[in-house]
Amino acid sequence: MITKEHLKTAAKAVGFDLCGVVAVHPLEEDAARFRRWLEAGNHASLGYLERNIEKRFNPAQLVEGAQTVIVCAISYKSEISTGYAEDACAKIASYACNRDYHLTIKELLHALLKQLQSDYPTLTGRAFVDSAPVAEKQWAVEAGLGWIGRQSLLITPEYGSFVHLGELIINEACDSYDTPFEASLCGSCNACLTHCPTGAILEGERMIDTRRCIACHTIERATTEPIALDGWIFGCDCCQSCCPYNRRAPMHRSEHFTPRFDPRTLTPDHWRQMSEEEFRCHFADTPLARCGLDHLKRNCD
Ligand code: SF4
Ligand code: SF4
Repeated sequence: MITKEHLKTAAKAVGFDLCGVVAVHPLEEDAARFRRWLEAGNHASLGYLERNIEKRFNPAQLVEGAQTVIVCAISYKSEISTGYAEDACAKIASYACNRDYHLTIKELLHALLKQLQSDYPTLTGRAFVDSAPVAEKQWAVEAGLGWIGRQSLLITPEYGSFVHLGELIINEACDSYDTPFEASLCGSCNACLTHCPTGAILEGERMIDTRRCIACHTIERATTEPIALDGWIFGCDCCQSCCPYNRRAPMHRSEHFTPRFDPRTLTPDHWRQMSEEEFRCHFADTPLARCGLDHLKRNCD
């Protein structure tokens, strides 16, 4: 049996800021809430969300012999996360100015798994980052890392919501587990609701309507009716940069999340005139590469 403190020390040693552990169990209430959100059509063109709902909320169906979910978080807050000037255009969400977090978090999780396997040779596990059917925000709450804010994202008391999450699901039990984060510390604040340019945040539900969300419209290829993008060409940080927990959070401390470029120096014309070669040269390993230059140019119009 693994000790919780051993796990947490190992997670910090590979570079994560936060780590919590939960015994595998089905998240029935969260699954029901998610189904209601889907039934209301709030997922818009994100059809993949309709698949694997059972696995998403019950890791026992995802990883054979799963006993423990290790939830890790790391801050990526940078100067760009603090927000743009009123008249800024060609705005890019701050996470997208870094190396693609899928690559970085996977590497960190694999380093953690390798370390744990050298300490516990019978341990097996799988790493997940965003792209697999794992309800990561809900697992983070269960692991005591934070609460789901009004803007639907995980907020950690120490690092706010500018954090990336990654999970290791392992076949070993822990000597003890973390306590779920029961409280919501949003209090009477509703800054994210008032700063969302499109009214996409569903009041009182801690969920968003992706049909009205700029982040979804700028990144997904097949979207619903066009909406005004408010100068954003990839993602949108409006409901995060205004959040008091993010304003007081420290900047990232991991070298992996030092921005590769400053979007504030690039105008819509820079993007329109950019060649594929230049794009590949400067943005190949950022999240922008997945979306492609043509798509960014379209968002500039
Ligand atoms: S990402 Fe932007 S558009 Fe989407 S909910 Fe947040 S503020 Fe609104
Ligand atoms: S801006 Fe305020 S209401 Fe919105 S998530 Fe942050 S603390 Fe909660």
